[in-house]
Amino acid sequence: MHESTFLSATEIAGAVRRGERSAVEVLEEHLAVIAEGEPHIHAFNALMDDQARMAAAMIDRRVAAGDDPGPLAGVPVALKDNLCTRGVPTTCSSRILDGWRPPYDATVVTRLDLAGAIAIGKTNLDEFAMGSSTENSAFGPTRNPHDRTRVPGGSSGGSAAAVAAGFAPLALGSDTGGSIRQPAALCGVVGVKPTYGRVSRYGLVAFASSLDQIGPLAPTVADAAAALEVIAGHDPLDSTSVPEPPPELVSRLDEGVEGLRIGVVAELMGEGIAPDVRRRVEAAAEVLAAAGAKIDDASVPAVSYGVSAYYLIAPAEASSNLARYDGVRYGLRVDAHTTAAMNTATRTAGFGAEVKRRIMLGTYALSAGYYDAYYGKAQKVRTLILRDFAAAYESFDLLLSPVSPTTAFPFGAKAADPLTMYLSDVCTIPSNLAGDPAVSVPFGVGDDGLPIGVQVLAPALAEATMLRAAAVLEDAMVEVTA
Ligand code: GLN
Repeated sequence: MHESTFLSATEIAGAVRRGERSAVEVLEEHLAVIAEGEPHIHAFNALMDDQARMAAAMIDRRVAAGDDPGPLAGVPVALKDNLCTRGVPTTCSSRILDGWRPPYDATVVTRLDLAGAIAIGKTNLDEFAMGSSTENSAFGPTRNPHDRTRVPGGSSGGSAAAVAAGFAPLALGSDTGGSIRQPAALCGVVGVKPTYGRVSRYGLVAFASSLDQIGPLAPTVADAAAALEVIAGHDPLDSTSVPEPPPELVSRLDEGVEGLRIGVVAELMGEGIAPDVRRRVEAAAEVLAAAGAKIDDASVPAVSYGVSAYYLIAPAEASSNLARYDGVRYGLRVDAHTTAAMNTATRTAGFGAEVKRRIMLGTYALSAGYYDAYYGKAQKVRTLILRDFAAAYESFDLLLSPVSPTTAFPFGAKAADPLTMYLSDVCTIPSNLAGDPAVSVPFGVGDDGLPIGVQVLAPALAEATMLRAAAVLEDAMVEVTA
């Protein structure tokens, strides 16, 4: 774990824009931390150091010339390796994309670049973002910087670990069922899943298109808010992109929670949630109450069926999205005598066990005769979850819950039993199914001394209110530890 001698993303950008720090110097400091720590952590699939050095030098030249390079000037940023980077291998931590270099940048990558941020590398993930521990990477797991015998969470485990280890003060992840928030919680950093459509997914390798959303991981709420302002906003290249300008978040962070009605989701506080995690959520509710919010119990009954619905809908979409890895268009190709045999050989060699499991589950759920009973039914449950959230938001401005049922678990603890692993996302999946935003904010530690994240959930497009509550929780922790 790094100590607080590192500047936050916001502090770095301020110092670089004022000409007090050079972007090159900031970059070299981070590359030095990476050189020392990365062999123990394995947060990255690849570093982009040459490219980063050129970009940082360009930022310094612009500052010297009196230009403002943007709100994230000189901020090193780590990119989950399912975000397309032009000319730089994008692997999704899968063998099947071996050798593939995207011919274009994801919109979020372009926007970060235009805001002055410096992309420093591609971070490890569960293959195709399927998992909750980063153990499903074809390139080996990432280790949790707080305890290297434990997982960092997943699937954005590399991004969360990179921020927690001080490798980068900002990272991007993707969240289909919890993949930003759960690793953020396990690594003690802030992670935001924005409203579906808030951030363009152009150039994000698709897992489950009706659920996928890109968002930031960062050491502070202000850093995450600043990054979200940069990456959000309409993009004509993503047909699901909300036609709204980016939200104002940073300027509203200190507005507090006075008078807000905040509900603790009863269905996510019971069985399966470790007592130490539950206690931190209760403590968070007390902090928000002391800050002037009205706290009450909330009920969102259908969230109890979230995991079941998700494991039909997400694999169904994945089975369709992953059909494109056929040995012809991208990456790996294992030759055989017929095209069909080549397809099979390529997919057999290229995909790992969890990805194969999802493709089979999804294909089954979509097959004739089973479609209505599985996929159709799951879509109905999804509608119920949406309705139950909508009903709850008639009485509440925000909701509160755990992020992960436990703190970071040891390697291998859940890998042998897919269902146990799937339950890691019981608290995070509902927001994906509803399309609503949610944030994981670090809020102390569990009985084992490892980080615990608390989740603040909000109705669609209410990121500003949501982050105000997150900022109150963050401030309370700073006071305790100061
Ligand atoms: N852990 C969940 C899964 O395995 C969520 C993953 C994600 O959000 N990408 O599908």
